[in-house]
Amino acid sequence: MVVPYKHEPFTDFTMEENRKEYEEALNYVKGELGKEYPLIINGEKIFTDDKTVSENPGNKKEVIGYVSKCSQELAEKAMQAADAAFQTWKKWDPAARANILFRASGMIRRRKHEFSAWLTYEAGKPWKEADADTAEAIDFLEYYARQMLRLKDGVEINSREVENNTFNYIPLGVGIAISPWNFAFAIMAGTTVGPMVAGNTMLLKPAKTTPVIAYKFMEVLLEAGLPDGVVNYIPGSSAEMGDYVVDHPRTRFINFTGSKKVGLHIAERAAKVQEGQIWMKRVIAEMGGKDTIIVDNTADLELAAEAITYSAFGFSGQKCSACSRAIIHEDVYDEVLDKVVNRTKELTVGATFNDNSKFMGPVNDQAAFDKVLDYIEIGKKEGKLMTGGNGDNSEGYFIQPTVFADLDPKSRIMQEEIFGPVVGFSKAKDFDELIDIANNTEYGLTGAVISDNREHLEQARQDFHVGNLYFNRGCTAAIVGYHPFGGFNMSGTDSKAGGPDYLLNFLQPKTVSDMF
Ligand code: GLU
Repeated sequence: MVVPYKHEPFTDFTMEENRKEYEEALNYVKGELGKEYPLIINGEKIFTDDKTVSENPGNKKEVIGYVSKCSQELAEKAMQAADAAFQTWKKWDPAARANILFRASGMIRRRKHEFSAWLTYEAGKPWKEADADTAEAIDFLEYYARQMLRLKDGVEINSREVENNTFNYIPLGVGIAISPWNFAFAIMAGTTVGPMVAGNTMLLKPAKTTPVIAYKFMEVLLEAGLPDGVVNYIPGSSAEMGDYVVDHPRTRFINFTGSKKVGLHIAERAAKVQEGQIWMKRVIAEMGGKDTIIVDNTADLELAAEAITYSAFGFSGQKCSACSRAIIHEDVYDEVLDKVVNRTKELTVGATFNDNSKFMGPVNDQAAFDKVLDYIEIGKKEGKLMTGGNGDNSEGYFIQPTVFADLDPKSRIMQEEIFGPVVGFSKAKDFDELIDIANNTEYGLTGAVISDNREHLEQARQDFHVGNLYFNRGCTAAIVGYHPFGGFNMSGTDSKAGGPDYLLNFLQPKTVSDMF
């Protein structure tokens, strides 16, 4: 009997004891930095000469690890290992597969701060954000394991007399998890173990800037009893081996989280049937967002300012759920803008691996730094810079939280995903216009409405076209099993990570009718 699912609680860092434990974990991880990591193919550790250097984005000089890079040849080897392992893994008792996830979750929970400390080093996460990332990874393991237990006996269907009909879910085959750096633990783990517990075997290609945390997770899976070849760890370049595994005729599905550009690239390649391929590949893609908080003239304006500030700048805005647009009723526009600007000015930016006092850490890497600063220049032309606007990459990739006001809702700052600490403000004259502007992008991931008017909230429930809509709170921080996560339109396939149907993305139902 498994206890009911409950999400993993967050660590209270106002408590001295917890801060101390986290510092100890950071110290431990510091001593582990700079090591070499192999690929893991069929349980075998393979070191390659060609390495990716994972650096600390808060201190560029510090190397997190040297990670072996998978070549095309080794990717082929991994594919063959996964293909062979599928023949036995798919027949494992689903409850036994779930037990590996429960065991892995227990192991991570006991060493929770250590994993979070890796995230603080490798992804530059403030302690609170790292803690939430690890908690979410635990949640995915716990939630998907239970979901498999629920699905394992299929669904009851009708049978006539002298007939017995069954409807059961069976796995698909070999899948590729291509995971992002922003939730380097949670999404990497969730997109791998969801399909895996459903009986598929996986090639895991973690993000270029965060391969070490993925390796640490692999260690846990193997220690928890995962058979060789079921998950194969193959970090490497997209051009060298990413496209190769996406194109591979034995690939059955691709589970991707990342940018719209890469998601569409994968979908296009996966649609082409290769020689020897006997199925249509499935693509599960969680892509970008241009997420909006709307505030009407009945709203609690403190709440509105808090929701916008936190959703825009938590983890430096590097969430596809981040609030990058605030659309405000003209009656309260000046007041909300003023409150957000004042709150933003109080936010601190700096390295997070040596203390917990900074609200925001660095952005991901030089490319992210350049991209965000380019957008800030565009914003200066399109709107009015209210605060922020500067970056400093002398030690790490730090960018000030930035607010632009008085933007045309069709401007680039209000339409394109920036993926950094930048939020733009526009004004609307009534609630219909607030909703129209909120819906005027190609994305449809998250959104929030701050209002005390029930009719407005109900109107938004119907008309605000996003996969995750929140009332009177911010638009980030979805919790597994509570706020199934995924979006409409160019935000992806709306596959709802942490949702009750997630595993169905990686299963196919089989009907058997037995006549007596
Ligand atoms: N699930 C996260 C949230 O609700 C965002 C995930 C992402 O950025 O990919 O904030």
